[in-house]
Amino acid sequence: MKIILEQKIEDGFNTKKFAILLDDNNIIEAVSFKKNNHTICLSSQVGCSVGCVFCESGKNGLIRNLTAKEIFEQYELVMQYSEFNKDENGYILFMGIGEPLLNYDCVKEAVFNIKKNTKEKIIISTVGIKGKIDRIIKDKLDIDLCVSLHATNQDQRDEIIPISKMFNYNNLLSEIYSFEKRGKRTLPIDINYLLFKNFNDFKEDALQLVDFFRDRDVRIVVKEPCPISNQKYFMTSSQNAKKFIDILKENNINHLFTRSTGREINAGCGQLKSSIVKNIK
Ligand code: SF4
Repeated sequence: MKIILEQKIEDGFNTKKFAILLDDNNIIEAVSFKKNNHTICLSSQVGCSVGCVFCESGKNGLIRNLTAKEIFEQYELVMQYSEFNKDENGYILFMGIGEPLLNYDCVKEAVFNIKKNTKEKIIISTVGIKGKIDRIIKDKLDIDLCVSLHATNQDQRDEIIPISKMFNYNNLLSEIYSFEKRGKRTLPIDINYLLFKNFNDFKEDALQLVDFFRDRDVRIVVKEPCPISNQKYFMTSSQNAKKFIDILKENNINHLFTRSTGREINAGCGQLKSSIVKNIK
C-alpha cells in the first residue's frame, strides 16, 4: 500500500486528500485536516453497494471490502503523511468510501488495533444497517456514532438511500436510541441531515426531527450536499435553510449547520471515489 497522490488546499485547516494504491491496484481515497483537533477520514471498502443518490463512492458498486490490515495500514499512512501525533486528541472518522457496517468484522478488528496506542476518538458513520448498531453495543466497541439519516420517514429515505428498504425507519430509530443509552460513549450521536431542496427541507421535516430527538443526547448536523456527477438533489435555498435551523434552535435541539471541508478538491462527504490502475509495475 502506498500514497500515489496528495492534493492540498489552503483553507486554514490544511486539508489534504490522499489517493492510496492497494496491492491489487485498486485505489481508495482518504482525507485529513486540522481544525481544533486533527481529523482523518478513512475508507472501509473499495466502492460501495449502498448507492446513495448523493454520493460518488457508490456509483460503480462494491469492488471489495478492505481487510482489517489494510484499514490499519491506511490509518498509519495517513497519520504519517499528515504529520499528526497519536498522543494528541484527534478524530478518526470512518466516513470515507464504503459503508463500515457492511464490513463490520474488519472495521471492528482495525478499531481494536488502532485503539491499542492512541488517545484519538473513533467515529463510525453509517446509513444504518439492520442489527449492526445493536451489535456494536453488544461487542462494546469503543467508538462514537454518526448516522446519515437525511430523511424523516421511510418513503423519503428509500428514495435517496436504496438499502433503507431493508431496514424499517422506526427500527433504525430504536437502534439509535439504544446506542444513546449505552455507557461507552463520549460524544453526542451525530445525526447527519443533508438539506435537499423541495425534498426534506420542509417545516414538517424539521418538526419531525424535533419530535424524534427532543431530550436525546444527539446533535443534528444539517449539511449542504457536495457537488457530484449527475447530481439530482440540490441544496435548499438559504431562506429555507434558515427557517429549518430556526425550528431546531427554538426547540433547543443541539445542532450544527455546516458544509463539508475539502469540497474544492472533491474531498467532501460523498465525493470520494475508488478507481483501479491497470498495468502498474
Ligand atoms: S454515503 Fe456511504 S453508504 Fe452511501 S453510497 Fe456513499 S459510501 Fe456508500
